[in-house]
Amino acid sequence: MTLPTLKVSDTLRGVKEDFSPIDPPNVKIYVCGPTVYDVAHVGHARPAVFFDVVRRYLERLGYRVFLVTNVTDIEDKIIRRAKEEGVSFREIADRYEREYFEAMASLGVMLPTVVPRATDYIDDMIRVIEGLIEKGHAYPAENGDVYFDVSSFPDYGRLSKIKIEELVAGARVEPGEGKRSPEDFALWKASAPGEPSWPSPWGPGRPGWHIECSVMILKLLGPQIDIHGGGQDLVFPHHENEIAQTEAYTGISPFVRYWMHVGLVTVGGEKMAKSLRNYFEVKVVVEEFGSNAVRTFLLSAHYRSPLEFSLDALKSAKARFESWRSALLRAEAYLREAGPSHELSEEDLKLRAELQDAKKRFYEAMSDDFDTPKALSAIDNVSAIASRIASESLSPNLAGEAAVTLRDYLQLLGFSVAEEAMPADLNRLVELLVDVRAALRRKKMWDLSDEIRSRLAELGIRLEDKGDQTVWWIER
Ligand SMILES: [Zn+2]
Ligand SMILES: [Zn+2]
Repeated sequence: MTLPTLKVSDTLRGVKEDFSPIDPPNVKIYVCGPTVYDVAHVGHARPAVFFDVVRRYLERLGYRVFLVTNVTDIEDKIIRRAKEEGVSFREIADRYEREYFEAMASLGVMLPTVVPRATDYIDDMIRVIEGLIEKGHAYPAENGDVYFDVSSFPDYGRLSKIKIEELVAGARVEPGEGKRSPEDFALWKASAPGEPSWPSPWGPGRPGWHIECSVMILKLLGPQIDIHGGGQDLVFPHHENEIAQTEAYTGISPFVRYWMHVGLVTVGGEKMAKSLRNYFEVKVVVEEFGSNAVRTFLLSAHYRSPLEFSLDALKSAKARFESWRSALLRAEAYLREAGPSHELSEEDLKLRAELQDAKKRFYEAMSDDFDTPKALSAIDNVSAIASRIASESLSPNLAGEAAVTLRDYLQLLGFSVAEEAMPADLNRLVELLVDVRAALRRKKMWDLSDEIRSRLAELGIRLEDKGDQTVWWIER
């Protein structure tokens, strides 16, 4: 099957077009990572899981992906938390960085190619800020801050469609601030005594958040990248400011070919956020529902749409994933038991056509700007076909094809379907019980044979009788 051409949307130009990276087959992706001051919640997991799927799918299409996700390890919230706990900012940052990547790993998110920490790039940030001052795009203030001069960058507002005049009208320069104009933003912030600081030409201080991403991208990926991702809430001001800083510094446009923004996770229509206290920790929901259920839930809406969180939605996601896994294991067990056969009945031919159609729809969905909800519904179809073949004892070969397809799609989307390796002894033990039960059935000792079946079911081992044959599989 030839795979359909990938189409990708770009927030800035508002178009969806054939994906064309700068230097194929290489694809450079930067996704804004966490500010590490607290535990990761489901709102953080959504972009991480989505871009993990983007990466896996691009690789399926033959691209070589270089994915950078940064860690913001110096920021006001980190400093505040360190003060509250009476520990160093480094201790807070390290603790929550570790927690973040553990949480993402528990969801099957692969580690990015590189994970730079902002504080490892401070010298580079200072050099870029100096360059911006030289080029007339930034100015130091008397208090030791350095600001970007938004009026020096005529394209400002192109990504977020925000007009500078509106910004100016809605804000004012607070007394004591060193800005010339309210829309200017900090590239460098002077530190108060006792706060973490780095030496700079403007006195001790720390970088602003926006310049961190611009500099790490320049340093690790160069002046132009293929995909820049992040949550919808980063469009303004973060990404708008990244464009201004980077393009003003390099003189090269566009800085980013495709801006991909992931909708927010909401609770009762409101953004899931630490500050609103309406968040659910990744660790907690994974313990409660399992990693695959959370992943199913996160991929159930189109990435540009908001995704409403609820425990009911997670429950149905869990049931949905379990139905896929159980169809997969059942079809595999049926093929093992029945053995290969090349005969195809009329019904088989019909199901084979349905399977081909579902495969086509899966790839069309994924290639249409990563339409995961449609891809999941194609998986529903493959799964229904697989269990029907097994339950109606249709073509074992077709059961095999459906199972291979299902396993492949689930793995491609980053689900974990590997059965925990079953010890060979356990395998033989189950075979023994199945044989004993078959003997009981031949003697019409139904009570005992039913009891064996239900006791095994309690252990997650499912038995299904087909005439005098018994198919079994492990369901977890
Ligand atoms: Zn960023
Ligand atoms: Zn310039």
